[in-house]
Order: sequence, then structure tokens, then C-alpha cells
Amino acid sequence: MVNQANEAARGLDKLKAEYSAKLPGRLSEILSTWQAIQVEGWQVTKARQIHAACHDLAGTGQTFGYPGITEDARRLEQCLNQVFDGGEPANAAQLAELDAAIQTLMAVDPAQTRQSAPVASKLAATPSTTAPGAATHEPERQRWQTSSATGIAVEPLSTLPIYIVDDDAAFADYMTMQLALQGYDARAVYSLADLDQQLATSPEAPGAIIMDVIFPGAITGGIDLINHYRESQILKAPVIFMSGSDSFDTRLEIVRAGGEAFFVKPFDINVVLEKLEMLVGETNPDPLRILLLDDDDIALGVFCEVLEQVGLVTRGITDPTQVIEDVLEFQPDLVILDMNMPEVNGMEVAKILRQHDSCCDLPLLFLSSETDPAVRAAALNIGVDDFLTKSVSHRYLISAVANRAQRARATTAKMSRDSLTHLLVHNEIKKQLADELSLAVRHKRNLCYLILDLDNFKVTNDTYGHLTGDHVIKSLASLLRRSFRRSDVLGRYGGEEFVVIMPETTAEDAVLVLDRVRKEFSEISHRSEIGDETFFATFSAGVSCFPDFQDINSIQTSADRALYDAKATGRNRICLATP
Ligand code: GH3
Ligand code: MG
Ligand code: MG
Repeated sequence: MVNQANEAARGLDKLKAEYSAKLPGRLSEILSTWQAIQVEGWQVTKARQIHAACHDLAGTGQTFGYPGITEDARRLEQCLNQVFDGGEPANAAQLAELDAAIQTLMAVDPAQTRQSAPVASKLAATPSTTAPGAATHEPERQRWQTSSATGIAVEPLSTLPIYIVDDDAAFADYMTMQLALQGYDARAVYSLADLDQQLATSPEAPGAIIMDVIFPGAITGGIDLINHYRESQILKAPVIFMSGSDSFDTRLEIVRAGGEAFFVKPFDINVVLEKLEMLVGETNPDPLRILLLDDDDIALGVFCEVLEQVGLVTRGITDPTQVIEDVLEFQPDLVILDMNMPEVNGMEVAKILRQHDSCCDLPLLFLSSETDPAVRAAALNIGVDDFLTKSVSHRYLISAVANRAQRARATTAKMSRDSLTHLLVHNEIKKQLADELSLAVRHKRNLCYLILDLDNFKVTNDTYGHLTGDHVIKSLASLLRRSFRRSDVLGRYGGEEFVVIMPETTAEDAVLVLDRVRKEFSEISHRSEIGDETFFATFSAGVSCFPDFQDINSIQTSADRALYDAKATGRNRICLATP
């Protein structure tokens, strides 16, 4: 039984290797046939050859770990079908389309089993339509263009090795093959000693470990080894445990060893793949940020290092008078304070933070040598979330910090986002504007405030129904998300009003970007829930900038006035507020 599975897995592996080896040859055959058509003119037999080759590739690419091949070959196949259906030689437009499809297929890197390769090369090949005056802000422009040109962002799978550790070699092989098919660099390991060896000799840190629990002679061998790695801090990667037996004790041990998930065999491989993708699929797009304040810079260095080791981003500061500025700039998810500092003590800093609008909800932890229970109680009384002693184990520190920061981020995200569009709500936008403006003032940077309002939206609702109206709102929200930078702040201010805050942006640039968005939005066709009609929608916008306007109030009212002007002068346009 085991042998059979083993053999099947190896058989598949062999097929995959053969497929990979033949792929470059197949692609170049398609290319040379196409080149012959280009030189000699349209020939149905040659086109049929390309069609047949594409059909094969489309059918098998995905199975052997090349989803990009399947997608691109299918597209080419469809283009050819259209030509064949017409019964005529391909016309100029069709030839151009075929050529583009062939180029896309050729952009797949056969040495790569990941979909990210072709996507990356496609992006690189996207011709850039540089807007006039773009020279000063090239990098931002590039980003804007990339996002609106492609519309999608495909995150690459992890390029780091994933170890599948199981003494059941057939099972390890099977899992490894499944992961390899998804584009992972999966490696089967059959014993704990072997894993030790591989980790010690591999130049790359692991992306994740999928670990069996029971090994010959060691009933919790897998868990024990991970525990050992965690304690000696040689392992940062997430670990997924799997086992043929399930018990509360096992689950508890796994949680204690920092296991991210536990699957009982036999399990649905797709569920494991989903979990894995969540854990490593994107290289932590927005890691948790921790701000540490301590007058002792050696202690500060150590604690920062400990937290950085597990992927948190830290900023250590020694000057308590700078704490608000650092919070505003660094936007931490959690702040760690030392209690005893020479000029201002930690309690006072905590109170200052609690009184500040932008910091009052931040989780605060004291990390201190203070042992007096009365002092600790007082700290908890002013809303400090926890009190850790400096002698705490690193593991405990990491989990206390990471858990609180993660939870705080999740709560904030839930409360500050609008449920229809997932953009920031009114209140949150106001807070962000205050923060961004104070940074802009301090660092003498530009800042733009954009307010958008859908045109004649009441009519849209009345004509096509409220549900359709909701779809229009959602489509504008997602266009905004695709069109602006990560550092821009997006919000839904009210019903059909949106706000964008663009830090470090001149009025000229903001208007340029927003006008592109305006045009793109006006070209999106919306479908009505009633009567299956399609229609178009537009928005008008007002833009106001710092330093033209200097305080929140005047920025907002001038933007409102500019929006009013845009409405009054015909809608579907942008007006810039002038001082
Ligand atoms: P103008 O071009 O001058 O902005 O005209 P308008 O009709 O868009 O402006 P008005 O403020 O008169 O109407 C806004 C409409 O937006 C009325 C309201 O029912 C609708 N609306 C507000 N929030 C939502 C929502 O969440 N979903 C839907 N479907 N409609 C909404
Ligand atoms: Mg309105
Ligand atoms: Mg409106």
C-alpha cells in the first residue's frame, strides 16, 4: 500500500520533470511556426499546428505547476478559434492579437514553476505611458500606472523552501508533490535528524515547516524538536503540525510550541494549502509595528532585536519627549514603555499618550524592572494593558506583544472601516487628516485632500434601484483602492462621498492622478439590477492642498467649496481650491 502510493508519487514527479524538460522545446516550436507565418504569410496548416500545441499545453500546464502556461495557451487557442471560425486568413487585427498572445505565452519562464514569473515579466513589458510633467515624481507615477494598467496584483508564492517532515516517506512525498504543483519549493524530509541537517546546511531560511508529531521512538518528537528550535531561536518560520492521532494534550503541546495550525490525517490537502498560502503566500505585506521607549539603549537594542527576529518591525527611542511625534510618524500597533526613566517616568508618558486623540486607543505595555505591586496596580489603573518584568522570557515577551498588537489591529480595522466599501469611516478620516497634516507641517511637505461625490446619484438610485446604487459605490471604492498609493488614505465620508488624503503630493500631481481616476470611472459600465440595463456613472471632486490651506478646517471647507464649483460647472470634473 505504502509502496504503491510511493510509486505513484514518484511516477508523477517523474512526469513533471519530463514535462518541465520538454517545455522550452515546445514553446520554441510554437514560436518558430509563428515566425514562419509572419514571414511567409498566413497558412492554415501551420496555424493548426500552433493550435494543437496550445491545446496540449493548456490542458497540462496547470497540472504540472505552470498555471500561467494554461492561462496563456488557452487564450492563444481561443484567438485561433476565432480566426478558424471566420473561415478566412487572419486579418491585421487578428494577427496583432495572435502576436500579442504568443508574446505573452513566451514570457513564461520555463525554469520557474511559479505563476509570478510570467506576471512579473508581463508587468515589465507593459509600455509606460508617461504623463507630461512626470519627471519629478517618477517612482510614484510608476506605481500608479502599474496598478491601473494591470488592475490586479498577483502575489508570488513563497520562494523559500517548505519542509514536509514525516517518517512516512510516501506521505511526505505525496505532500511534497502537491506543494510543488502549487509552485512551492517543497522538500520532503523523512526524519528529525535529517531536518536538523538540512536546516543547518541550507543557505535559505525555511518558509514554513509542515511537521508530523509522532516519530519512531519519540511520541511527540515533532513538537519537541520545534520547541527546541523556538527556544534556541533558530526558527522564525511558521509551523503546521499534522498527525494521525488527535487529543487535547497534543493540541495543547502544539499551541505551546507556537504551531500555527494542526491537521488530523487524513486531511483535505486543499485546506492545508490554503493555510500555507495564508502563512507564507504573501511575505507579510504589513508587519506589526512596535514602538519601544527606554532610556537604557542597551536594553532597548536587545528587546528590539528579540521582536525583530519574529518579523515584527520595531522602532526604539530613548527620548520620552518625542513619543507623540514618533507615534504619529511610525504608526505603531503597540507601544512598550519603560517605567523608570530619569526625567519623565513611564506612567506620565502613558497618561500623555492616553490623553492624545491619536494615541488614546493604542495598546501600552510596561516593560520594567519595577516589582512594587502598588506601582503596577497604578499603571493598570490608568489603562496600561499589561506589565511585564524585564526578566521575562523572550518567548513570553514575543507572544504578549504580538498577540495584543494583532488583536488591536483587528479591532481597529473593524471599527474604523465602512462595511460596504471597507474604506475608513468619517471619524477615522478626520483623525488621519489631523495626523498627516501635523507631519506635513513639521516636515514642510505637501499634502492634498480630495473629496469626491457621485453625480446625480439620487437619480441613479431612483432609476436603477438602491442595490444597484450600492454596486456603483463599491466599484468606485475598488477603483480608488487600485489607483492610489498604499501611503494614501482612503475613506468613505458619507453616503456617496469619498475622501482621499495624499501625503507628500503637490496639487498638480493630485489633480493629474485624480483626473485619470475620474476618466477611468466614467468608462466603467454598471449593470442595473432592474431591467438588466447598463449605464455609466461619474463623480465630481474638489481638491485642497497644504500649504495653500493651513489648518484642518480651511482644508476641508475649501475642498467642499471646490467640489461645489465642480458640480455647478457641469459635474464629472475636478476643481482645485485656490486660496
Ligand atoms: P449631486 O450630483 O449634486 O451630488 O446629486 P446627488 O443626487 O448625487 O446628491 P444628493 O445629495 O441629492 O443625493 C445623494 C443620494 O445618495 C441620496 C441617497 O439616497 C444616496 N445614497 C447615500 N448613501 C447611499 C448608499 O449607501 N447606497 C445607495 N444606494 N445610495 C446612497
Ligand atoms: Mg451628496
Ligand atoms: Mg452626489
